Amino acid sequence: MKTLYRLSHQIDEFAEEIDERNRKSFVSFSTGALLLSAIVFLATIFIPLYRPLLLSHGFMLLYSSVLFFLSRWCQQSRIRKIRLCMYLALTPLLAGAVLVGTYFDPKKPAIAIFIYLCIFPLFIIDKPWHIIAYQIFFCLLFILMSYFSKSPELFQDDIQYLPIYLSLDILANIFTLIERTESAKNYVLLQHESERDSLTQLLNRRSGEERLYALFRSQVHGTFAIIDIDDFKHFNDRYGHQIGDEVLSGLSQAMISVFRASDVTWRLGGDEFAIFAANMLDADTCLGRFTVFQKRVSEIKLPDQVKEPISVSIGCTLCLSEHLDFNEVYSSSDAALYKAKKMGRGKTVISSVSL
Ligand code: GH3
Ligand code: MG
Repeated sequence: MKTLYRLSHQIDEFAEEIDERNRKSFVSFSTGALLLSAIVFLATIFIPLYRPLLLSHGFMLLYSSVLFFLSRWCQQSRIRKIRLCMYLALTPLLAGAVLVGTYFDPKKPAIAIFIYLCIFPLFIIDKPWHIIAYQIFFCLLFILMSYFSKSPELFQDDIQYLPIYLSLDILANIFTLIERTESAKNYVLLQHESERDSLTQLLNRRSGEERLYALFRSQVHGTFAIIDIDDFKHFNDRYGHQIGDEVLSGLSQAMISVFRASDVTWRLGGDEFAIFAANMLDADTCLGRFTVFQKRVSEIKLPDQVKEPISVSIGCTLCLSEHLDFNEVYSSSDAALYKAKKMGRGKTVISSVSL
């Protein structure tokens, strides 16, 4: 039980990556189903023995095609309720399997439904309770339909091994779920580690720049700024690297608290940081926000022996140009930072790229 609760919790925690995987899984499943039903349909056309099944195999082909386009649409639109979509998409298949095993063929015992009931949910990563409830629902539906459609002897045959089949189906799904959730979790943690700076937990230079390139490609305008701590070498020499590290961590916290979560903040290296504040294009707003930031930096909590407040110099560029070019924006901010340093400690200089 504890394992299932932990599993549920992990599925919530890594929901974004898990749903990304669900979307891919749905596409793989529907592509497989489409290929298989196309082969079966062709075989039905060419092999006379299968001809009587032409209509039902034609229907399967049609259904798989709809599923295929639906799954592609879910992936392209990055639909959030992908798990619900998958349950709904699989329901007609499982309901069909229940019908085939009961009303459509009431003279034979049926176990195929338990194979589908095991395989189909394997494609979904969701809370274990949901998957178990889904499997139990179809199992109950099967019992009900078997009871009303079959003779008492055949009904007994059908339900004789049902608890074992159902338990195996549930177990197979839970074990796969544990594996797949673990893999999603490890992927997210590794990705997080590879794109973050270990001291400040801000994005590292490569990841920050990648995000900025992506924003520029989507024509998102805003303010790009380079932030550099004043006289930090001297600070380190005086108080030691450990307290220097505390300053770097405090500064990253100040960045997170002053700017929006949608803004991109990263450590360029050493005592240099960068920020891209999307849609901030007005010089007064920009100056106001950086003044608040400077104040927050001067308030960073440090050991009592540190007497002087920390200050930073900032070089900003308002990215107004139609064709945003990273190198141009970076050089402009670097030049503004150089000017700010020349003016003394704690200054902000704004320039703009507006060609
Ligand atoms: P300026 O006002 O011109 O920026 O002077 P500065 O002394 O800050 O000069 P500069 O920016 O070139 O100095 C960067 C210093 O940052 C050098 C190094 O001691 C310190 N530094 C770089 N990385 C780290 C780090 O990870 N931890 C600590 N504590 N210090 C670092
Ligand atoms: Mg510096």
